Amino acid sequence: MCDPLKSDRVIVIGGGLSGLAAAHRIHERSGTLRRLVDLTVLEARPRLGGVIATDRFDGFTLECGPDSFITNKPWGLALCERLGLSERLIETDASHRRSFVVRKGRLVPVPEGFVLMAPQRLTPILTTPILSWRGKLRMLMDLVLPRRDDEVEESLAGFVRRRFGREALDRLVQPLVAGIYTADAKDLSLKATLPQFLAMERDHRSLILAARREARRRGPRHAAPQASGARYGMFVTLDEGMSVLPSALAAALPPGSVRLHTAVRRIVRNEPISPWLVELLDGPPREADALILATEAHAAARLIDAQDPALALQLRAIPYASSVIANVAYRRDQIQHPLDGFGAVVPAIEDRSILAVSFSSVKFANRAPAGTVLLRVFIGGAAHPEFCELDDRAIEELVRRELGELIGAAGEPLFLRIDRHPRSMPQYILGHLDHVAAIRRKLACHPRLYLAGIAYDGVGIPDCIHAAETTADALLDALANPAASAA
Ligand SMILES: Cc1cc2nc3c(=O)[nH]c(=O)nc-3n(C[C@H](O)[C@H](O)[C@H](O)COP(=O)(O)OP(=O)(O)OC[C@H]3O[C@@H](n4cnc5c(N)ncnc54)[C@H](O)[C@@H]3O)c2cc1C
Repeated sequence: MCDPLKSDRVIVIGGGLSGLAAAHRIHERSGTLRRLVDLTVLEARPRLGGVIATDRFDGFTLECGPDSFITNKPWGLALCERLGLSERLIETDASHRRSFVVRKGRLVPVPEGFVLMAPQRLTPILTTPILSWRGKLRMLMDLVLPRRDDEVEESLAGFVRRRFGREALDRLVQPLVAGIYTADAKDLSLKATLPQFLAMERDHRSLILAARREARRRGPRHAAPQASGARYGMFVTLDEGMSVLPSALAAALPPGSVRLHTAVRRIVRNEPISPWLVELLDGPPREADALILATEAHAAARLIDAQDPALALQLRAIPYASSVIANVAYRRDQIQHPLDGFGAVVPAIEDRSILAVSFSSVKFANRAPAGTVLLRVFIGGAAHPEFCELDDRAIEELVRRELGELIGAAGEPLFLRIDRHPRSMPQYILGHLDHVAAIRRKLACHPRLYLAGIAYDGVGIPDCIHAAETTADALLDALANPAASAA
């Protein structure tokens, strides 16, 4: 018999978006539970939000990590609505909804209607200077190629090469996808990253036919002829920057439930006193009835190592890439390029030092004072880990040189700020889904221990929110039915 007056001590380790979204869901539902929940979020750093960080000064809004989230997955918007943030969401600027890809050092628009890897329209593909005639004809072969019918897992690069050819991969898809996953397309699992394209082949055989049918089905009202590249028209942010979201989540939690500067050293089983003991780097240990590890997978591995080294090994096997984001501002008259788009991605075969540049003050309103321009430059990723090792001075030189060559940025920037994200982006490589399933099977051997975070079920903000909320629901169900979860 459980005591209905005793509260369940739930500890969430990690105060990034995943940890906060899980804690918020637990608190949101706790009013409907028959038992009390004593909720604590432990975060090692002096601030919440994890990779999400916004800095505002002198009229500039600097996104030091994520700058927006996609709206065609509902969980980000739904959470904002529940937090009362709907009025504070802002869309990308409708007048320049397109992106560029670098070809031989020049910025060329991504063909209209080309969404990540499927063209909704043929004319822009036939007329784009990004591909040679041979490359265009090879891409059109998608219309006649048969579907693949074996079950062997395919890499993103392998899939695109098979359907559209090598040139479309190298010149278009690789840079667009690398901009999202900071990954090497030849290692990425298509099934784990963009399964919708597998489904398109399965259901329609040709991706071009599937994309055109989908565009027709949605009708002209929803068609976005100007939209191209990574579907910029479908992204939103918050008026004062992305960190509004973690701040609002924290504000909605019970007072005193969040502990900053609190790094967890390890977790150990503590039966029969309580299921878990959470040992801190500094301070007395805490007992917990249920735990969510919402840290990076490699950090979760360190936490569980003493208790379950085999599980730790599996968590450590999820590879991570590092990246650097440089926010840099210029006066408008220092830049020659018209900046009539949201930014540019750089194919690996261009052999440059940056992955992409986002024209932040064009993409979203009120990101920079009038007469100035705010840009975000992405460096590193799985393809170029060596650039993340450079010191700030070398990164500054690299950024200024690349922006000078690509968009004609001249002279001293107004400022240049560098943010490093070491081992922050998990790589969903071939076998990722099976690997995560194996981790979950091992996890199930431990009572009331849960994993949430970017490493497992999707890297985007809506995916992280969804996974965190699903995890919180599972935890609450286990607390509500102790007999079932112990079985
Ligand atoms: C550079 C970059 C840019 C991105 N841009 C976008 C974007 O524009 N749009 C989008 O949708 N997604 C983007 N993403 C993905 C997005 O950031 C994630 O979906 C989400 O923010 C990840 O949140 P998280 O809580 O899972 O992880 P994290 O933000 O990494 O949080 C993990 C937290 O755990 C804490 N922690 C670790 N170990 C311990 C310990 N021992 N004790 C206590 N605390 C600990 C860490 O300090 C950290 O705060 C980006 C990711 C990166 C890396």
